[in-house]
Amino acid sequence: MDSKMNDSKIIDGKILSSAIRKKIKKFGDELNKKTSKVPGLAVVLVGENPASRVYVKNKIEKTKEVGFNSIEHRLDHDVSEKQLLDLVDKLNEDKNVQGILVQLPLPKHINSDKVLDKIKPIKDVDGFHAQNVGKLWSGLNSLVPCTPLGCSIIIKSILPDLSGKHAVIIGRSNIVGKPMAALLLAMNATVTICHSRTKDLNSVCKEADILVAAVGIPEMVKANWIKKGAIIIDVGINRIEKNNKKILVGDVDYDECFDFCGKITPVPGGVGPMTIACLLLNTLLTAYTQFDEKAPDLSSFLE
Ligand code: NAD
Repeated sequence: MDSKMNDSKIIDGKILSSAIRKKIKKFGDELNKKTSKVPGLAVVLVGENPASRVYVKNKIEKTKEVGFNSIEHRLDHDVSEKQLLDLVDKLNEDKNVQGILVQLPLPKHINSDKVLDKIKPIKDVDGFHAQNVGKLWSGLNSLVPCTPLGCSIIIKSILPDLSGKHAVIIGRSNIVGKPMAALLLAMNATVTICHSRTKDLNSVCKEADILVAAVGIPEMVKANWIKKGAIIIDVGINRIEKNNKKILVGDVDYDECFDFCGKITPVPGGVGPMTIACLLLNTLLTAYTQFDEKAPDLSSFLE
């Protein structure tokens, strides 16, 4: 039997995220019965970046599926920074909008930090506002960036407590690497963050009980970087051409690493669907706060 047919090693993000979205719908419907209000998620897309358009389309589709209102704003590539900031201001004040997502990357003439900082922290469903970042690192309740939140839920579903475990993250971005480190610390792991200036990257990775790869280099992590039995979370989404076909691959060489790891997320179908589920989860959680209702514990969505 082909070892990659060993399903128990594959972490299916589609199944896990679908179960979470079902719970979100159930809790959202109950919230609606109590308050007669529907959570609204505003998505702002600037320009025509093809990957961003696909992400936004998927996010809107799933938002509607769980019964939330989807508010869409598509702006021309040459919209001014002031016009975008004014739109964010308007959404900040709109009572029908509980979450605001400005799809990144923004065109070069717009300062992304300025735009992200303009979003009210309570509506910052991407968890990128400095106030939410500070709260996350202080162990306070906050909106957490969706991709690392999704990864932490995946890891929790396999190992609820990481005491004594070594987690290695490759990548130190504000979107994935850094918040991932904060979440793994909160789960009691011993955490190492690697990046482009790390020496002997493969030997550091070989120490990992949990390896999170968030780099953006196709199939960079090879079998001889993996500790036997490690849990591998592959965040990378890279479009490459193989045998004259355009395909998506992660930052981990899946075929090579499969036999050595304990568990692995595939690309596509691993972390990606969890990111969208967590966007909806953040929208629901902040809707409870904005509707003056007590939010259920995060664990209620994972049962
Ligand atoms: P980024 O470019 O902001 O950060 C990449 C990080 O990798 C940097 O911190 C850099 O130091 C590190 N790096 C670069 N080259 C390296 C090398 N040779 N060795 C070690 N480290 C190196 O990217 P990002 O936004 O963090 O995204 C990373 C990957 O994750 C991308 O492929 C992106 O498409 C993907 N991503 C996926 C999702 C999802 O939902 N699955 C969400 C966000 C990002």
